[in-house]
Amino acid sequence: MQKQIQKSEDKKYLEALSQKIIQLKNSRKAVVIAHNYERPEVQQIADIVGDSLELSRAVTRVKAKIVVFCGVHFMAETASILNPGKTILLPVKEAGCPMADMITTKELKALKNKYPKVPVVCYVNSSAEVKAESDVCCTSSNALEIVNSLKSKQVIFVPDKNLGSYIQRKLPEKQIILWEGFCPTHMRIKEEEILLSKKEHPKAKFMAHPECPQKLLQHADYIGSTSGMLKYAKQDEAKEFIVGTELGMIYRLEMDNPKKKFYCPSEHFICADMKLTTLGWVAHSLEDMVFEVKVSDLIRKKAKKSLDKMMSVLPKN
Ligand code: SF4
Repeated sequence: MQKQIQKSEDKKYLEALSQKIIQLKNSRKAVVIAHNYERPEVQQIADIVGDSLELSRAVTRVKAKIVVFCGVHFMAETASILNPGKTILLPVKEAGCPMADMITTKELKALKNKYPKVPVVCYVNSSAEVKAESDVCCTSSNALEIVNSLKSKQVIFVPDKNLGSYIQRKLPEKQIILWEGFCPTHMRIKEEEILLSKKEHPKAKFMAHPECPQKLLQHADYIGSTSGMLKYAKQDEAKEFIVGTELGMIYRLEMDNPKKKFYCPSEHFICADMKLTTLGWVAHSLEDMVFEVKVSDLIRKKAKKSLDKMMSVLPKN
């Protein structure tokens, strides 16, 4: 009984906060965008939900001058690089990406000195400074296309060693020079947890994100970005899926496919940084116009080149 009362109180609180955010959004003429890994209630109040590439493109298209970016710091930075005239707000200033922090410009410069003339592809999960030192950016949905588009046989790939290794296996003709970065969320999952989940749900197909290590990917029926997973789950005839990425994705998949079932293979599949953003912080962000993320012009111009190069390789849509 006590728990039920608590639940309905929580629901009322969240509904009141959602209403407040809608009013603030209207009065500020702002848009709220959210990554697929955000909390369900944050995804619900967002005008646009997507993966990092979809969101980067969306910010450029929206007319609003104020964008509240429910995600982590590098995502808000990317939005700012592409839209210097807009105010990009990150509701929780501490929301970062441990993988993005695993390489500094100093380290990247040293790597470039070791392999002069070798092009650098940097995963979008990186700081603006690292993007500025790179030749071209990529996301998990286009990394293969981007690396393949380069003429050079050797390619430096930073910071994610798992995504880089996945590309190496797909493009054996290339020689990928890897950095030792990784996503702690995707690295935390054990192979036994995947095998157990497969045993519990024998009819389910296993979809895995390429940030997972190879020992998990080897069991996958489908490997792709979160937007790739959404397409796959919709189009595939299977009715059940084990989801090999951050827990927030389950909500998005269930919304898009109400007749299909989605299972999380482990309770550890949570990115603590993505979960920092709550409705309370979104309301606070709109109310006090915090926390603005802005990239210095010098870095912005250089980083934009590597993002523009990525966009130029992709089909326009
Ligand atoms: S899920 Fe991994 S890559 Fe994504 S923000 Fe969290 S730590 Fe970074």
